[in-house]
Amino acid sequence: MNFSIMPKIELHCHLDGSVRPETIIDIAKKEGISLPSFDKEAIKEELIAPLDCESLDKYLKRFSIPNLVMQSRENLKRITFELFEDAAKENVKYMEVRFAPLLHTQMGLSVEEIIQSVIEGMKEAEEQFDINGNIILSCMRTMSVESAFEVVEKGKRFLRKGVVAIDLCASEEEGFCGKFIEPIALAREYGFRVTIHAGETGIGKNVLEAVEWLGAERIGHGVFIKNCEEAYNIVKEKQVVLEMCPTSNVQTKAVNKFSEHPIYDFHRDGIKVTVNTDNRTVSDTTMTKECDIVCNEFAMSDEEYKQIYKNSVEASFADVKTKEKLKKYLLDI
Ligand SMILES: [Zn+2]
Repeated sequence: MNFSIMPKIELHCHLDGSVRPETIIDIAKKEGISLPSFDKEAIKEELIAPLDCESLDKYLKRFSIPNLVMQSRENLKRITFELFEDAAKENVKYMEVRFAPLLHTQMGLSVEEIIQSVIEGMKEAEEQFDINGNIILSCMRTMSVESAFEVVEKGKRFLRKGVVAIDLCASEEEGFCGKFIEPIALAREYGFRVTIHAGETGIGKNVLEAVEWLGAERIGHGVFIKNCEEAYNIVKEKQVVLEMCPTSNVQTKAVNKFSEHPIYDFHRDGIKVTVNTDNRTVSDTTMTKECDIVCNEFAMSDEEYKQIYKNSVEASFADVKTKEKLKKYLLDI
């Protein structure tokens, strides 16, 4: 299959991990921001996590440079627009982009201004390219519970205006879900859909808790349900959808190599899996690359790709009309 021309859907993509290296250089030059280098290849070295990266925490260190240039309305809008442009150019038809608003307040922007700027970038790209999108607000689980409440409260007014869901991300510790039960419950009450990063660093039980305590409808990664029977069973029974990101999972050492990735075993056992990039720049990838990796590694058939595409449509937080449109692309596969 030639995946570059195939319709694709992405449900798990971080804005700050997907900034074009040339945009970082351009903004830094204009604004006098110091960078380790202004050479594109050298800055890519700083941004891209190698496949032999040691852990999720080492991987997350790559996000400090992009964040330097994501502190103004104009830059947030531009970076979001460019991400949707890049995705549209490889035939991604729908994409949910997530970001943590509280990381972008360093130069005085309000949380509302930050969210509004990202929505504007997305809307402008939707007008220019054949792509639709939605935004997921991430709460950093390394920050306080109050900070999660802040994102929920301030993000509320953007629901159905571009924002659809809430997420918890960053470094994963055992039992993190217990701390965030209240803000996530409030988010659900307001109408946010829920996806949670869990089971990325060896702790399958976190997935169980994300589903039972936080009402997660989707799980970011979920690789380690393979080692936790209860988590595995609940994901399978409730048809919780896994947003899997193969390259990222090798870089963070969730798996040692692609052939050890559980995505295909999960799929064959009836678990709903989807394929995603996680971070286009930090993981140096695209949806085309990720689909190629999965299909080549596991000799996946056209029918199986169609099933994964369908899983992505059904699990997306898009409205009914958009879902219908996305289902029509199945005829092209
Ligand atoms: Zn992620």
